[in-house]
Amino acid sequence: MTLNTPPNDWIARTLSAVWHPCTQMKQHEGVPPVCITRGKGPWLYSDKDEAYLDCISSWWTNLFGHANERINQALIDQLGKIEHVMLAGLTHPNVVELSEALRALTQGQLGHSFYASDGASAVEIALKMSHHYWRIQGRPEKQEFICLANGYHGETLGALSVTDVPLFRQAYAPLIKGVHIAPSPDHRLAPQGVDAKAWARTAAFELERLLNTHQGRIAALILEPLVQCAGQMGMYDPLYLQLARQLCDRFEVHLICDEIAVGCGRTGRFFASEHAGIWPDFLTLSKGISAGYLPLSLSMTTDTIYQAFYADTMAQGFLHSHSYTGNPLACAAALASLKIFRDDDVLEENARKARALTDAFSWVQGDERLVHLRQQGMILAFDLNAKTQASNPRFASEFFKKALSHQLLLRPIGSTVYVMPPYVLDEEQMAWMGAQTQKVLHETL
Ligand SMILES: *Cc1c(COP(=O)(O)O)cnc(C)c1O
Repeated sequence: MTLNTPPNDWIARTLSAVWHPCTQMKQHEGVPPVCITRGKGPWLYSDKDEAYLDCISSWWTNLFGHANERINQALIDQLGKIEHVMLAGLTHPNVVELSEALRALTQGQLGHSFYASDGASAVEIALKMSHHYWRIQGRPEKQEFICLANGYHGETLGALSVTDVPLFRQAYAPLIKGVHIAPSPDHRLAPQGVDAKAWARTAAFELERLLNTHQGRIAALILEPLVQCAGQMGMYDPLYLQLARQLCDRFEVHLICDEIAVGCGRTGRFFASEHAGIWPDFLTLSKGISAGYLPLSLSMTTDTIYQAFYADTMAQGFLHSHSYTGNPLACAAALASLKIFRDDDVLEENARKARALTDAFSWVQGDERLVHLRQQGMILAFDLNAKTQASNPRFASEFFKKALSHQLLLRPIGSTVYVMPPYVLDEEQMAWMGAQTQKVLHETL
């Protein structure tokens, strides 16, 4: 706090002491951050007691609303037992129960979970494990990765190397390893008249060529199943996942499904991969896994991969760790969240809510400035057309500001507007969110 700052001026104090994520701090001169002091259900409240509907689940993490009573209670109960304990040489009931529950959700296909705290670390784990597995198999030359164009997997150096978002990569290109980029199956990229399945086949054909060219050197293909979320919510047909799975098997390459954003019921099934009826060799989870309460991430894998590391020599183990690996509080939040899924039939309820979400945004079809209205479960997005984009170069920040003045927390990605609400919105709130978004759009354009 500087000398003349009033103690309750959180904005001045944050700008003097906090370096905010994914932000050009100078832009806060024009749009100051909002100080949130409490939340309830889908609502966030500022220090000035203004209410905002959390239409993007606080960066896609929150599933069952803020200050959820059942999750709060689980954390209070856990606090009375143990807050944290290391997971090397020790274990605790929560991490055991969570790993068993997740294994059951994959019908036993992914039998082991390795824990970290943030999403990027879970991706690092999958990448390292994949290469290490091939090394153990006597194939150390398998050390290259394929990712999809416009894919996002996090921002630590390893995760960034398989992320194709130029804005995030540019400054760090000299620090990161080369990667092979396969074309995206995102259906928006298809020529007019080409349907999503045909486009998925085209993209898979290019993937096949890449695998063929680099045969024997690829360890894994990493992708976001069904929705490239940070890539402007680009959506694609599950057929691509089936074809990718077949190609990975044929070329002896691991498939890493990064479900950090699309897992935990977001797309309508618990795992997005289930829409394609496939299982990957690695599946990463974070964001929604702890219902937006505490940092928790994990990489699940098959018994085949787990068994390869099971040996008498230390060096053949997976020697990777984070201080807060499998934190008991975070696992308690995850277990409470999974209990809500079971007790409230959340996936079934969400199917109904997804239809309400469709209805709430039906107006998009009639607005000729908007294109590519698309939805996958509890994610809905649309884009500005090229002409509107060109005449609104500052669209994202203008829209964000205007949305706040209409009680919505919405952050467009470039010229894509999307909502990814917590699962607790009722149909009336869905409709209100849709109508308010329309208002914001009309005032911004
Ligand atoms: C957010 C995200 C990550 C990174 O997670 P962090 O917790 O932000 O490190 C990785 N992959 C996908 C698909 C994501 O959406």
